[in-house]
Amino acid sequence: MNTGFVNHEIYLWHNTGNYASIMPYGNPVQPGEHVENPETKRRFRNLLEVSGLLSQLRDIEARAATEQEILRFHTQEHLDRVKQLSANEGGDAGFFSPIGRGSYEIAALSAGGVISAVDAVIEQKVNNAYALVRPPGHHALADTAMGFCSFGNAVIAGLHAMEVHGLERIAYVDWDVHHGNGTQSGFWEDPRALTISIHQDRCFPLDSGSLSEIGAGAGEGFNMNIPLPPGSGVGAYEAAFDRVVIPALLAYQPQLIIVPCGFDAGAHDPLGRMQMHSEGYRSLTKKIMAVADSVCDGRLVLCHEGGYNPATVPFFGLAVVEQLSGIKTEVVDPFYEVMVALGGQELQSHQNIAIEEAEALLANLKKR
Ligand code: ZN
Repeated sequence: MNTGFVNHEIYLWHNTGNYASIMPYGNPVQPGEHVENPETKRRFRNLLEVSGLLSQLRDIEARAATEQEILRFHTQEHLDRVKQLSANEGGDAGFFSPIGRGSYEIAALSAGGVISAVDAVIEQKVNNAYALVRPPGHHALADTAMGFCSFGNAVIAGLHAMEVHGLERIAYVDWDVHHGNGTQSGFWEDPRALTISIHQDRCFPLDSGSLSEIGAGAGEGFNMNIPLPPGSGVGAYEAAFDRVVIPALLAYQPQLIIVPCGFDAGAHDPLGRMQMHSEGYRSLTKKIMAVADSVCDGRLVLCHEGGYNPATVPFFGLAVVEQLSGIKTEVVDPFYEVMVALGGQELQSHQNIAIEEAEALLANLKKR
């Protein structure tokens, strides 16, 4: 038993086009490179190889999610639109979500890669798993692509775990710097999933991810947003985990934990204003693993989401996979010294207030 790893070269062939960061080119925007390009993911996988860790992970083969599996979350119209764009010249499949020729098949393999990781963990072939998939998924809604995400990979994999493996309680802990609005929407009225998102306050989607979004109907109380002020560092993240995320998980008692894992809360990310570093990500992983050990035999799947600094993301990712596998490599993160020294790494008083407000949400969490 060890840590499973999902990756496929074809994930890197998903073509987001000649955007300039997030903006489509056209006068006065010079054509450039889309910020969600293969480089961060390729370099993450390559650092795993160079460090010697990759060969010690259990390779999990990704398979394409079927239409039926995608339709557990998405509408037929959305699936057809992605398919149609993909079969032609590509285009925007929704809101800030450019796709290229062949992207339908790649997006299906991305969702299917997370399903494969979930299967391997539930079937006890591995202790835990990291799915380095692309395109990401946590912003996609049932009827549209959004924020570089074509299909809701984590939602689709969670619904698979419920429908096929009979799981009744899954918890999501989304630590991407942006709000996990798609995952929230997938289980808005569904108490079978506790969806927690910890993110930079009102970063993306615009005006999304507030404390007041708690789910509805039977799902009321089972969605928790923890919006942290811009500038939050490792101290704020650790406090939010210790005081909100972990108590929520212990109360809910999930049978599986899925972490939509973005690395854009890292210091120096172009799309976020937070200050996490590799040891911070290692620490959060350790905390989640401890809860998983105590409530669900360690069943934990991380699926890759955002993270846009190609130089730093590989070191954040390596720290997480080292922690998951219990294997420490010789690699030293060269960015750590710079990032740990940043002002405000420790919990600040205004961040403490934000966490206190989120702590109040624990009262909504009715034990099932
Ligand atoms: Zn993000």
